[in-house]
Parts: sequence; structure tokens; C-alpha cells
Amino acid sequence: MAELELRRRTEISMLDTARHFFDRAAEKLQLEEAIVELLRYPKRKLIVTFPVRMDDGRVRHFEGYRVQHHPVLGPTKGGIRYHPEVTLDEVEALAVLMAWKCSLMGLPFGGAKGGVRCNPKEMSEGELERLTRRYAAEIAPLIGQDIDIPAPDVYTGEREMAWIVDTISMHNHAQFMPGLVTGKPKVLGGSEGRDTATGRGGFFVALQMLDRMNLRVEEATAAVQGFGNAGSVFAQNFHEAGGQVIAVSDSKGGIYNAQGLDPQAVLQHKRETGSVVDFPGADSLSNEELLELECDLLVPAALENVLHRENAPKVKAKAIIELANGPTTMRADEILHERGIAVVPDILANAGGVTVSYFEWVQDRAFYFWSAEEVDRKLKQFMDRAFQRVWQRHEEAGVDLRMAAYMVAIDRVAQAARARGLYA
Ligand code: GLU
Repeated sequence: MAELELRRRTEISMLDTARHFFDRAAEKLQLEEAIVELLRYPKRKLIVTFPVRMDDGRVRHFEGYRVQHHPVLGPTKGGIRYHPEVTLDEVEALAVLMAWKCSLMGLPFGGAKGGVRCNPKEMSEGELERLTRRYAAEIAPLIGQDIDIPAPDVYTGEREMAWIVDTISMHNHAQFMPGLVTGKPKVLGGSEGRDTATGRGGFFVALQMLDRMNLRVEEATAAVQGFGNAGSVFAQNFHEAGGQVIAVSDSKGGIYNAQGLDPQAVLQHKRETGSVVDFPGADSLSNEELLELECDLLVPAALENVLHRENAPKVKAKAIIELANGPTTMRADEILHERGIAVVPDILANAGGVTVSYFEWVQDRAFYFWSAEEVDRKLKQFMDRAFQRVWQRHEEAGVDLRMAAYMVAIDRVAQAARARGLYA
């Protein structure tokens, strides 16, 4: 198992994968060399190391990152993740993905990403607060509502965003600056629907995909890997629409029921026990087994590189909805393509999160807040429109959905860069 894990991770890095897809799209778009060079590398990469006092009185040092791709279309935008395996390269790859995601969705943002290498599961709330505030202070010179706007990502949420707003506001004469971060609690200028936006947006995309597959949601099955914010909301939406969620999992393992699971009840079980594992009336299965289940939609909604060259030949799903960022390695992508399995790429499938972040930022700037219905209606509009753009490019250019999405996204950034010209 450890060996497989190692082989999987060293197969090819997420950054190499992101660059590979960019190069291929640039070639297809016949982009000029100057634009390719500009967009291939991020504008800023910040590494910070900082001390945090732990509950036992000792001081530990942590490393954190913030990478900004390019502010060509507007301020850069992207989440902050806390994870023991975060690296600068991974954050750079994720910043690049954010750039294409924002562009594809038609948002006035460039891409960015941040991360701190830490294990939040082993830290107390006080330790996490001190870590978040100190990290925020370290990256503050590069953050602002017109510069770079963070948001939640893996293992961060409203609570961390509130600490970040507070810290950076306090550094600015205590002036309340809600627009510098999205994914905040509503009482601090957060938006309706932001907490469920990634899963909800993925569900709208899944409906579009099922339509193209000539399948009705009521007759469709889905297996969802990851039962966090994105995966659990997707599963609930899918179930409520009449679809069958036959398996879900989290980092501790998975559960399976061919008749379909009730995601709401699974969520309750997870809240009570800390995991979906041992949910009554379901069989257990591993995360690896889940990815190889026979189903209509496979929804990786956890971490990157879970579909790799070892398991891609064994995937039995008809289509994949990438709710996680970068769940498919470059090699796996080729294999799935050869096998005729459609992959709705991350920059489209999980773009609901940043889309409602954009709505939040607009509302914060106007100090005028929308109803949950209005947010949901606009989110559907944005997701459907982006899906249609991608589908059209897929048909016109004869490329798979990922390449089509990359082409639409990169084309728009390139046009903006060209129009702005070179400042020299
Ligand atoms: N972390 C999310 C993503 O990967 C959301 C980013 C945002 O809202 O800015 O898309």
C-alpha cells in the first residue's frame, strides 16, 4: 500500500499536469510565445515561516504560501488550505487552476492559492486561531479586495475567514474590510449559499452532463469520494433530485448500498461518530474500491491525484465529475479519454464555490445583500452558461471536455493580456 501510494504520488506532480494541459491548450489556440511565457509562470510566489505558540507552551514554526498567478482580468482569487502535505508546487498548481476556473466562469479575477503545512486535525481551536492570524499577518501585504482575495479550501472555512478579516482589518486602523476575503460568516458580510456553493454548482453541472448522456437524474447512480463540504452537498442535491447515491467515503473509508444511501442520514452519522464508516444498513468499502464501482457518475470530491495510471483502467463509471481540484493525473486523463469515459474537469465542475465567492465580493462592495433564491438562480445561470461554452468548444474543436474548458479559459486571459499590452 505504501509503495502504491508512493508510485502514485511520484507519477507526475500536479504542477507538471497543470503545465502540460496549459501547453496543449496554448498550442491548440496557437498563442504567441510572449503570451505563453507570461501565463505559464505565476507572477508572485510568497513563502512565509512563522512561529505559533502551542497550548503546551512550546513554540512551533510553520511554513505557509501564497501564489498569485496573474492579475490580468482583475484581482487574484483563491482559497487557503491547511494540510500536512501542502507544498509550494502544489499551491502554484492550484493557483493556476484558479486562474483558468475564474476565466472560464467569466469572473473578473485572476487565480491565486494559499496554504499552510499543518495538521489541523491535531490542533486545538486556540492553536488554529493563532496560526491563522499569524499567517494572515504574514501575507497581508499581498492581500486586499482589489489585490488578492482569499477564501476557504481544504480544512478551512467560515471561522478561519472571520479571523483573517479581523486580523487584516485591525492592521488597517481597525477599518472593517469584508471584501478582502470571501466565505465569511453571513453576519460579517458572507453570502447566502456560499457554504453549499461548490456541491450545488457541481450538481448543476452533473444535470447538464446527464442531459448530454441522455440519462434522467431519477435513473442515474453516483459514487462520491469525500464527504466534506463539497461531496456531502452534492450527494444531498443528487439524492433530492431522485438520483441514487450508491457509495460515499471519507478519509477513514467508505460505505456502499446498491439501493441508494440517504445522504442526510449519513451526514448525521458522520456528525455523531466523526466518519461515514459503519453507517447502519450499508456495506463497507475502501476509497480505492469506490473509485472502481459501476455507476453513471463518479464524483471525486476529496484530494488530488486519486485517479492515476493504476486505477484509471479499472474505472467503470460512465462519466466523472471532478468536484476536487486535480483528482485526475495526466496519465489517468489519457487513459480515461482512450476508454471513452467523459471527464467534466475541475475548473468547471467545482467552480460553484468561487462563483458564489464572486457574488459575495460584489455584495460586500455594494453593502447590499441578496436572498438565497437570488444567489441560487444566478449560480445556476453561471454554471449552465459555462457548461454550454465548454460543450460547444468540445464539439467545434473535437477535443475532450478538459481541453475545451482550458481553451475557453486561456483564450479569455490571453485576449485580456494582449489588449493590455506589455508594460516595459
Ligand atoms: N477553494 C475554492 C476553489 O478551489 C474556492 C475559491 C474561492 O472561493 O475563491 O475553487
